[in-house]
Amino acid sequence: MKPRTKFQKQVVSLSKQLAPISNTQLIWAFKNCFAHEARRLRNGTLTCLDCGHSWQEAHVFYDSLCDCTCPNCNTELVVIDTRKQKFTQKEYFEVFAVCKGFQVLRYFFLEKHCKAGKSAQLFCREVVQHWIAPDGKSEIMARSRGMSVIYYDVWNWSSDLEIRREHLAHRISPIATYPVKRFIPEVKRNGFCGNFHNLSPRTFFRNILSDSKMETLLKSKQYDLFRHFSIKRSKTIADYWASIKICIRNSYTISDASLWCDYVDLLRFFDKDVLSAKFVCPADLKAEHDRYMYKKQTYQIHKNREQERELILKNEKIFEELKAKFFGLEFSDGLLHVRILQSINDFYEEGQRLKHCVYTNEYFLKPDTLVFSAQIGGKRIETVEVSLETLKVIQARGVCNQNTEYHDQIISLVNRNAHLIRKRMTV
Ligand SMILES: [Zn+2]
Repeated sequence: MKPRTKFQKQVVSLSKQLAPISNTQLIWAFKNCFAHEARRLRNGTLTCLDCGHSWQEAHVFYDSLCDCTCPNCNTELVVIDTRKQKFTQKEYFEVFAVCKGFQVLRYFFLEKHCKAGKSAQLFCREVVQHWIAPDGKSEIMARSRGMSVIYYDVWNWSSDLEIRREHLAHRISPIATYPVKRFIPEVKRNGFCGNFHNLSPRTFFRNILSDSKMETLLKSKQYDLFRHFSIKRSKTIADYWASIKICIRNSYTISDASLWCDYVDLLRFFDKDVLSAKFVCPADLKAEHDRYMYKKQTYQIHKNREQERELILKNEKIFEELKAKFFGLEFSDGLLHVRILQSINDFYEEGQRLKHCVYTNEYFLKPDTLVFSAQIGGKRIETVEVSLETLKVIQARGVCNQNTEYHDQIISLVNRNAHLIRKRMTV
């Protein structure tokens, strides 16, 4: 990507001034980033994979020798039993540098090729640079990557270090950091003492340089909060800052930031004073969190019940407005008694007894039908729906929507009494 902004142009020009990796750094990296191994054959021949020197083991006791020293290059070696000839190791290596007021994090890709009998070859290329200004503003200089979806760290060696849009591949976890480290004074001023608290150096530096709240968290040793808010979240540090300040003032260290934030949310829900140390600095955070969580759960259950009750009352009103003039309708042939369902509870009972959906599908809200229960001696037999337009039975259903032996008798009884329904309609 071509540098566009003034800042990007400055980074590109400074990047060109950076010294390449020195020989001393390279030697250090070679020694500290890789395993150093001796290949052992079954006949006891040992080969140093660093310098290529071969020698014969004095006494061949298999499994007894785990490491040895190369008589040629004096390197401590781990013995591996294999007939393999070629070995490759790949690692990343990190250097903390300073350049014209910028904190620069440099990442080198290292590859060690070993071949039995030859001295090892080391390949080293710089792949990523993070440039961080004293105000936390940052840019990435990196090589381009191959198009592989799976191997995102396959670098394109024909490309140059250029300004690049941030990508996962630029967040490198190196195996080692060069021990001579340089830092800009601003990171030390803002609380950096050498510990990144499990964050990447880039995230860590950008946070303490760009956000004074993060700087305060670090300096007041609220490390868990610091880590918690280093990641983008729906609720930011500003949402809790007033309460956090109370904790800091009371020397209360928050050991579990996400639990504490949830707890503060619960306190707010119950209108508790989140500026009072009594609430925001509990001696037993987990116990208090759980206590309020159960309290909220109980509240929600009650609220649901209340809402349900309110809905039933509302429906009851609509039902009555629609059907009150038909209440009390009842027909009988001596054996069967067909009576209108005249409350929502009545629909509920009918649905429960006959195991169908007359209640769940809210038949009581249908404006153009009436629902009756056909019973014998108080026992519910079938449910009957009658059209208010035709005054004819639309459906009659027994337990689990099955017809009973009284099915036809019920329909005929209702249809015969249709004139009683019509009479009510004129009221
Ligand atoms: Zn050697």
